[in-house]
Amino acid sequence: MLDRIFNFSAGPGALPLPVLEQARDELVNFGDSGMSVMEMSHRSQDFTGIIEKTEAGLRELMGIPDDYAVLFLQGGASLQFAMVPMNLYLQGNPVDVIHTGVWTKKAIAEVDKVAACRIAASTEAENFARLPRPDEIKLDENASYVHLCSNNTIVGTQWRTFPNTGEIPLVADMSSDILSRQIDVSQFSLIFAGAQKNIGPSGVTIVIMRPELAERAPKTYPTMLQYRTHVNTQSRFNTPPTFGVYMISLVMDWLEAEGGVPAIEQRNEAQANLLYNAIDDTDFYACPVAEKDRSRMNVVFRIRDGDEALEKRFVEESAAAGMSNLKGHRSMGGIRASIYNAQTDEAVNTLADFMKDFEARNG
Ligand SMILES: *Cc1c(COP(=O)(O)O)cnc(C)c1O
Repeated sequence: MLDRIFNFSAGPGALPLPVLEQARDELVNFGDSGMSVMEMSHRSQDFTGIIEKTEAGLRELMGIPDDYAVLFLQGGASLQFAMVPMNLYLQGNPVDVIHTGVWTKKAIAEVDKVAACRIAASTEAENFARLPRPDEIKLDENASYVHLCSNNTIVGTQWRTFPNTGEIPLVADMSSDILSRQIDVSQFSLIFAGAQKNIGPSGVTIVIMRPELAERAPKTYPTMLQYRTHVNTQSRFNTPPTFGVYMISLVMDWLEAEGGVPAIEQRNEAQANLLYNAIDDTDFYACPVAEKDRSRMNVVFRIRDGDEALEKRFVEESAAAGMSNLKGHRSMGGIRASIYNAQTDEAVNTLADFMKDFEARNG
């Protein structure tokens, strides 16, 4: 295992080493089954045990109310950009989107195809470098629902407190910060997240929802695109992403052993603070994001006001020093360090030390 590097990828992200090791140990023979999870019927007793355990772990760790449905779907968060408006749009009642970056832009494009979309607030004019203030959010009181993105993976902002939408259902894309911190699930009517940033491999999408919302959709829609199909079959209308679900169960076990969400939240905050302090301590580095809205998952920064040659050197030299994927998103430039739940203190300390050293040599 000594050849593993420090992986700062924004997605798919690093997974906890103990999880990967357990998956390796169980790969060809899971428990007493005599077969791999990949070879198991999704209707078998063994797999039923796995998916039920995964759901129970998620419910326990997130504090999901009993009357919410938990679904394991495919198609990524990107399919949810379409499925949510298809299923939750009420004719004549607009979908309100709080526009905070590239991922809400993609969501808006899908809402536009099937529903009347309203922008309830946007910080696009400021390059999304901050989130809208509560007084800037203008909701339509008849909105079908409100969509927001809890952590903006690309621009590096993250909601600390969520807007109160009253009676209007609040939908959140939590792809890049699900289970990274304590939240009150009952504030949301629907939460979705691709698993591959914080809780597992790609191929599984988690949907947590008030099941009554699944009844809004016309039954004439394709079966697979109706939430009710998956609610009514406990995510086994067809073959779910079995191995991915199993991997999430291992991540839930790991998270529990680490002290659960409160403990991981503290660690995430400490790691983020270490990097933001390293950035703020000097004029050599600069974070474009308003301090109060900075993400604890994706730390974005520029070097010497966006000196691209220097940033390129930073990426190359950090890679040579055993740190991968620090290049910023192609639309943003600069540097991005993704420090999801599985990121180790050792990796973040190594990066902070490297930043000081790089500045000393180039500052
Ligand atoms: C990565 C990401 C997505 C896209 O997820 P896919 O599973 O690739 O479709 C959507 N929203 C956010 C916030 C993301 O970080």
